[in-house]
Amino acid sequence: MNLTGKNAIVTGGSRGIGRAICLELARQGANVLFSYAGNTAAAEESLRAIEALGARGIAVQRSVDDPEGAKLLVDTALKELGSVDILVNNAGITRDGLTMTMKEEDFDAVIATNLKGAYLMMKAVTRPMMKARYGRIINLSSVVALRGNPGQINYCASKAGVIGMPKSLAKELGSRGVTVNAVAPGYIQTDMTAALPDSAREALLGAIPAGRMGAPEDVAAAVAFLASEQAGYITGQVLQVDGGMGM
Ligand code: NDP
Repeated sequence: MNLTGKNAIVTGGSRGIGRAICLELARQGANVLFSYAGNTAAAEESLRAIEALGARGIAVQRSVDDPEGAKLLVDTALKELGSVDILVNNAGITRDGLTMTMKEEDFDAVIATNLKGAYLMMKAVTRPMMKARYGRIINLSSVVALRGNPGQINYCASKAGVIGMPKSLAKELGSRGVTVNAVAPGYIQTDMTAALPDSAREALLGAIPAGRMGAPEDVAAAVAFLASEQAGYITGQVLQVDGGMGM
C-alpha cells in the first residue's frame, strides 16, 4: 500500500484506534488532519508521532456532532493540504446502561456522536470527493452492531447505523470513484475497554477464536487497506476485525 500524496481526515485521532489509524496512514505516506473532543495533551502526542513519520499533521479540537465543525475540518484540509482523499469516521463514545433505566440523554449523546457525527462528515466530504472523482470513506462500526450487546442499546443502534449509512452512500457515489465501507472491530485494547472487570474480560477472551484482545494497530491495518487505491473495487462492505469473534 502506498498513500503518498493522499490527504486524510480522521475523527477522534487523539487516542486509541484513531491514533493508530493516523499513524498507519502517515506511515504509508498520507498527510493527516485529525479531530479530537478535548484531550489536548493526547492530541499533541498524536501530532508529534505523525510528524515523526515525515507526514504533515494537523489537529483540530471540534466535536463531530457540530455541523459547523464538519465543514471546518473539510475546509481546513482543502486549504492546508489541498484535497480530501480519505475520510475515517472513528470518533465514538459509550454511555452504557440497561434499556429499562437508560436516560434519554445518554441515548441521544451516543447517537449524536457516533451516528450523526459520521453523517455530517460524510455529507461534508461528498462534494469535494465527487468533484475529484476519487475518495475513500471508512466508518468504524463494531462487532456488537451485528450481534447486539446487553446494556448497549444506544451504542449498538449507532454502530448498526454506520453500516447502513455507508451502504447507501456507496450506491450514491459508486460511479464517481468514491468507495464507502465499514470496519467492525471486536474487543480492542483502548481506554474505551479499559474499565472492563477481569471476569468480563476472561469471558470475552473465551469467545475470541484468536485468543486475545485486538490491538489498535490490527484495526488500523484494515483501515489503511480500505483507504488505498488498490481497494478501489471494494465498496459497501463491512470488514470484521475481531479475531473471529463475530463469526
Ligand atoms: P477511545 O475512547 O480510546 O478514543 C475515542 C477518541 O474519539 C478520542 O480521540 C476522543 O477524543 C474522540 N472523540 C470522542 N468523542 C468525540 C467527539 N464528540 N468529537 C470528536 N472526537 C471525539 O475509543 P477507541 O479508540 O476504543 O474507539 C474508536 C472507535 O472504534 C469508536 O468509534 C468505537 O466505537 C470503535 N470501536 C472500538 C472498539 C474497542 O474495543 N475499543 C470495538 C469496536 C468499535 P479525546 O481524546 O479528545 O477525548
